[in-house]
Amino acid sequence: MTTIYPIGEPGQPWLEKHKQAWLKLQTTKRCYQDDVITQIEALKDQFDCVEYGQLGYDKIFPLFLLKSKSWDNQKPCVLITGGVHGYETSGVHGALAFLSRDGKAYEQHFNLVVVPCVSPWGYETINRWNPMAIDPNRSFYKNSPAPESALLQEYLEKLGVEFLVHVDLHETTDTDNSEFRPALAARDGKTNQNWNIPDGFYLVGHTQKPQPDFQKAIIAQVRKVTHIAPADNENKLIGVELEQEGVINYDGTKLGLCMGLTNAPFVTTTEVYPDSKTATPENCIDGQVAAIQGALNFLK
Ligand SMILES: [Zn+2]
Repeated sequence: MTTIYPIGEPGQPWLEKHKQAWLKLQTTKRCYQDDVITQIEALKDQFDCVEYGQLGYDKIFPLFLLKSKSWDNQKPCVLITGGVHGYETSGVHGALAFLSRDGKAYEQHFNLVVVPCVSPWGYETINRWNPMAIDPNRSFYKNSPAPESALLQEYLEKLGVEFLVHVDLHETTDTDNSEFRPALAARDGKTNQNWNIPDGFYLVGHTQKPQPDFQKAIIAQVRKVTHIAPADNENKLIGVELEQEGVINYDGTKLGLCMGLTNAPFVTTTEVYPDSKTATPENCIDGQVAAIQGALNFLK
């Protein structure tokens, strides 16, 4: 099935005027300050809150992360990121829920760095891209054109710690097929081919360091709270061959994905399905928290 997007000319990549036309259609639908910053503020007693940068768009978006107050160089370091795609709500709220529910307990074993909302403009406008029509989750590389990616990379470079594990929290939604993939194809002057949106939770591991036992442990933990996506009739999820139940691999470094951000030997990307008949916002958050628990329990 192909979908024609209303902006641009078929077969021609977008020009600046098309990007501007797209941006004009975007509106604020929810509030980063009320939904996210208030929760970050509430965790300040327990964790160090760092403002690692600001995005200067139609307004200023401060960027925050939370990290362990009692940093212990003997302990391995954990990186959790959410909201790289701002519309993927349970990633943002899953990162925050993990810290408030479990953060203190896991600090017995790990130093934590949690970045709940990498793309707050995307959070407010329910978008995959930033205002320049750039996907931050394809922009984690040197001299990145996306400030969402560049500012986090700069901060982590300065922090200078080696991470053992990085869990990047995402969703795969029905709007990927109805809006975001057609928009991407239109921007790049390509024809969109939709794929089946997986019904359930799955993981995207890293081709260069797949760590199948680690991914398996995460799937086992998530299965306790939500269902795992079955492969399609070609044994694929989102067009990629299944590696094991609920797991596919991407080359996160080559693609500039957030999971390629560090040299951590254990990395994964969670994909929660919020449009499932049985899904609720709470259940999606529980799925994200379970994924982090599964990852850290495997390594502690
Ligand atoms: Zn995503």
